[in-house]
Amino acid sequence: MRAAARTGGRGLLAGIVEFVLPPACAGCGGAAGEEVRAGEGPVCRNCRLALPRVPEPSCPRCGAPMGTGEAPSCLDCADWPDQLASADAASLLESPARELVHALKYQGWRGVGDFMGGEMARRAPCDARQAEVIIPIPTSIRNLRRRGYNQAEVIASALGRSLDKPVLQCLQRRRQEGTQTALNPMQRRANVRGAFVMAEGFADRVRDRRILLVDDVITTGATLLAAVQALGPAEPATVVAYAFSRTVPISLDL
Ligand SMILES: [Zn+2]
Ligand SMILES: [Zn+2]
Repeated sequence: MRAAARTGGRGLLAGIVEFVLPPACAGCGGAAGEEVRAGEGPVCRNCRLALPRVPEPSCPRCGAPMGTGEAPSCLDCADWPDQLASADAASLLESPARELVHALKYQGWRGVGDFMGGEMARRAPCDARQAEVIIPIPTSIRNLRRRGYNQAEVIASALGRSLDKPVLQCLQRRRQEGTQTALNPMQRRANVRGAFVMAEGFADRVRDRRILLVDDVITTGATLLAAVQALGPAEPATVVAYAFSRTVPISLDL
């Protein structure tokens, strides 16, 4: 009986556990047994349908919502390097997307990342579909030890499986740069500049390729810029970024 449960088959023990403790939804805490059994991940259908889209109008390049004002152009991506063509997010970082990000990042709920990658594939924009190689944003060694996985890599793997694209873990954190959450946008950019390096031996697999950078959340874009900077010397054809969720700029009152 134990062997059956351990191998992941629907053994008697697994069945009993599921009966007593039906799988919960990572978004709302409700029942998600049906979705889990169907291989859709620990997120109920209601939460999946309720994932908020990034409100329009949004910047065609960086995806930042532009509010209802008559902004002539987006300031968020005005100083982006040419190599970074676009950034998109499958959802806005509001409930229930926020709960899913939290479950993957802070509660060790790895299966949520599979759902997130699958959902990103379903909602993938043209730029992401046309990419040839997926590269996840690396996490710090400290987070990797604590969590046991890089959340961006879990998401990237699921996305890669769905879109049938290879995942290349070629970026590494250069040093500990502390937490980003307490910093303002200017400080964030300064803090992550030079944060990544490309591991040796990957340049040939990046050169002239269309790269898809994947992260769980896009906040200011500072992390993406640091990743593009690290990939630059390998001369990729183009880089597009795609995250499960994005925040709304603080300056924008939606
Ligand atoms: Zn739910
Ligand atoms: Zn923009």
